Amino acid sequence: MRSPFDRRTRAARAALRERGAAAFALTPGANTAYLVDYAADAGERRAFLFLPARGEILVVPELDGARARTDAAVADVRTWGDADDPLAVAGDALDDCGVAGGEVLLDPEMAARFVLDLQGLRPECEFALADGALGPLRARKDDAEIDALRRAGRAADRAMRDVRGWGDEAVGRTERELARRIAARLDAHGGHGTAFPTIVASGPNAANPHHDPGERAIEAGDPVTLDFGTRVDGYPSDQTRTVVFAGDPPAEYAAAHETVRDAQRAAVDAVEPGVPAHEIDAAARDVIEAAGYGDAFVHRTGHGVGLGVHEAPTIVAGNATPLEAGMVFSVEPGIYVEGAWGVRVEDLVVVTETGCERLNDTPRGWRI
Ligand code: ZN
Ligand code: ZN
Repeated sequence: MRSPFDRRTRAARAALRERGAAAFALTPGANTAYLVDYAADAGERRAFLFLPARGEILVVPELDGARARTDAAVADVRTWGDADDPLAVAGDALDDCGVAGGEVLLDPEMAARFVLDLQGLRPECEFALADGALGPLRARKDDAEIDALRRAGRAADRAMRDVRGWGDEAVGRTERELARRIAARLDAHGGHGTAFPTIVASGPNAANPHHDPGERAIEAGDPVTLDFGTRVDGYPSDQTRTVVFAGDPPAEYAAAHETVRDAQRAAVDAVEPGVPAHEIDAAARDVIEAAGYGDAFVHRTGHGVGLGVHEAPTIVAGNATPLEAGMVFSVEPGIYVEGAWGVRVEDLVVVTETGCERLNDTPRGWRI
């Protein structure tokens, strides 16, 4: 039986052929984790995965060599020591890959200095980004990926239930303190660290969709936006609830929260194969506009989620990509009133043959 990595590298090579390009040149990260099960960050040291029409070569610093030979689904691993010239090793690898001229598809995550290295080694080549070729492959998740995403969602859901259980006890604690406690709950429920910086945004801070938790203490009556996720088998969760731990929220808040939940439901109900991504955005936006908060919904409705927390498909006006079974993305409408409050509700969904399945199922209301 083929490993998922064999299947994925074959599909990547097919995309390469279809485009008429010579090779992918990737940097350890989400793309290499996806294709060859290796993602060790080499920092400022040079590391490349070259994937041409046939064979593939992983070039890593010597100190990562043992790990690469054990972990990576690549037969040809080459290393360079700190006293060596890494570009000599990379240049030989490009020769052996048969990349004489033609187009090289670059990892969008590759640092600019490494891009310049490759351009210097192969001035006769054309360079372009790899996401047009790899994005569609990564967007359609296989069963193992969906299973990991489901388990990551469950770990985050369990942590969210714990958070709701804090009730009054959260009042007087700082945003940063809650963020630390959330990280501990994610690990306790089988997650591996935080998938992205946890957002705990209280009171007027909740009007900033990407607020960094700070020293503000939670007050009774504060709406608090909680957006966090963890990883399981490398795959992240990402969900948001906005709750009031104690007391009564601002006057217009309950109705606005209901509007966001209605918008989220309308968008989730619209998900099925064949529907263009922008229609999901419109389904949420229409509800929020009808309630008079159109200008206060200041971001797209969602983003694809896989090894990357933000990947294809983006759920935004203008993206006509038709949804396909296996795609996983967030549905996260919000309303943000500057200086006052904010609300966002987010779940991940996986597109199925007939509609979609939510990967989060904790209560969505603001009342604890
Ligand atoms: Zn989120
Ligand atoms: Zn998100």
